[in-house]
Amino acid sequence: MQLARYQRRDNGSIGLCLVEGDVVRPLGGSGLPQDMRSLLSTLPEGASSLRRAAENSSRLPLAEVKLLAPIADPQKILCIGLNYADHAAESKMALPQYPVVFTKFQNAIIGPNDTIRLPPQSSEVDYEVELVIVIGRGGKNIPKEQAMQYVAGFTVGNDVSARDWQLKKGGGQWTIGKAFDTFAPLGPTIRVNDGTFNPHSAKVWTEVNGRRLQDSNTNQLVFRTEDLVAFLSGVMELSPGDIIFTGTPPGVGMARKPPIFLKGGDTVTVCCEGIGQLTNVCMNDRSPAKL
Ligand code: ZN
Repeated sequence: MQLARYQRRDNGSIGLCLVEGDVVRPLGGSGLPQDMRSLLSTLPEGASSLRRAAENSSRLPLAEVKLLAPIADPQKILCIGLNYADHAAESKMALPQYPVVFTKFQNAIIGPNDTIRLPPQSSEVDYEVELVIVIGRGGKNIPKEQAMQYVAGFTVGNDVSARDWQLKKGGGQWTIGKAFDTFAPLGPTIRVNDGTFNPHSAKVWTEVNGRRLQDSNTNQLVFRTEDLVAFLSGVMELSPGDIIFTGTPPGVGMARKPPIFLKGGDTVTVCCEGIGQLTNVCMNDRSPAKL
């Protein structure tokens, strides 16, 4: 099941739906919660109610809606660095003993086909395809053995990164490098954790202007979903709708010779097999002051 947020193209109304091929099944009027965080808090246990609600729902052609970021207002956006064995080998770095964690904020989230704004403060903006964990029921000190019961599903993210800020400027600032507006494209859907999807055996790839630059598999993850949920929930209580970017495989632009950085007009597509493809176009940011 592919859960999403949509906006109707005819009247602009926003709602939750399941996506089935080229059809959406709106969940309005189903009796289920109509905001994503509340709905996620019922998953994965409530997956069967979700399926039933969708079966009783109307059908809308996918072409009549715009899919939005599946969750726009997570309480926390947690991100993991250096979490692919093949990426660590490529970087000649030892596997980390503990997950390397950094954060983004809600301002960074955009949805499918939204624009990645390349900030004037950076000339080294890079792409990173990532499997993203979506937390269902929240919890603290969740045991690894039970961790999957706290996962509502999985989506795809692009951990857009200004490398010059992340690694050089001001002494190297991960928060600044990762937190610019629009630096967390997310979607198109949340693959519900109903036992039909193995998050640790899925191809992940990135294409920029149709050229494949990252191409790996989540079977290379060092810290898997259960490890991350157990580790992070030991540090902070996880809440429904929190999202965890799980790290990126090899092939990022900065590691290429010569490096490849995103430019205005570039089209970036990131994909996780079994979830979907997320495409965004880049534009040089010329936003006026907002006062
Ligand atoms: Zn990343």
